[in-house]
Amino acid sequence: RGKKAFIAGVADDNGYGWAIAKSLAAAGAEIFVGTWVPALNIFETSLRRGKFDGSRVLPDGSLMEITKVYPLDAVYDSPEDVPEDVKANKRYAASSKWTVKEVAESVKQDFGSIDILVHSLANGPEVSKPLLETSRKGYLAAVSASSGSSISLTYIASERIIPGYGGGMSSAKAALESDTRVLAFEAGRKHKIRVNAISAGPLGSRAAKAIGFIDTMIEYSFENAPLQKELSADEVGNTAAFLASPLASAITGAVIYVDNGLNAMGVGV
Ligand code: NAD
Repeated sequence: RGKKAFIAGVADDNGYGWAIAKSLAAAGAEIFVGTWVPALNIFETSLRRGKFDGSRVLPDGSLMEITKVYPLDAVYDSPEDVPEDVKANKRYAASSKWTVKEVAESVKQDFGSIDILVHSLANGPEVSKPLLETSRKGYLAAVSASSGSSISLTYIASERIIPGYGGGMSSAKAALESDTRVLAFEAGRKHKIRVNAISAGPLGSRAAKAIGFIDTMIEYSFENAPLQKELSADEVGNTAAFLASPLASAITGAVIYVDNGLNAMGVGV
């Protein structure tokens, strides 16, 4: 039977999550997505109205089907954790069961267990502020939303200085990569589950545009990376499909660069 893949962090057809869903669908997986509650309505409406049909086309000409879209806010584990103002918010009140535990339970009830879990979300409310000026609240929010797992998306700002990637997002990515290793050990021993991260190069996604410097980073990468070409989200999607497949059966605890090789450069050229 086809594997079931849940991709958390899909709210349009521009980001890495969408491309990963497509690559997994092309490889025969059944697709479920978790969509951030405030973005749910517009995403579902756009899907229904066929706005994404052009980008749903798979290599064999068929359209990617999303079996179910689950509302999700990855910052809250269960209803007790949700503050009153969020509960009262119109967009949150319009949906239900969007905390992490509830989504996991719903998926289990609806379809049984999941074979592939992808974390493709991040949120740093103060990402445009330097770390030095980041508030405790902003820092903790970044770490809370942006680290998690079994395939996740990370960024080289975790290990090298990337001015402009602020608000604790560099710290969140460092936590994510460290968790990838420790969880690989724990989940590997306990459940034979593999846990990996993809360190992706710059892509002009919705989240990246919020940072402000994404065009500069794309240009920088083009100028300086060993492979002088645009990085396409599909290349990250294909790597995720590989990592989730039996072809990668001995790969766990790894951070794989998909960045046209930029990470390997010591100086700009
Ligand atoms: P994106 O906007 O497509 O994806 C981010 C998603 O996170 C959005 O759909 C957003 O709605 C969702 N989200 C935010 N807060 C959430 C929450 N609390 N609960 C649930 N969902 C939430 O942008 P993207 O750039 O494709 O991001 C995907 C991943 O790739 C992120 O982890 C990001 O840090 C990582 N990444 C991106 C780049 C890049 O240049 N774009 C580079 C390296 C790594």
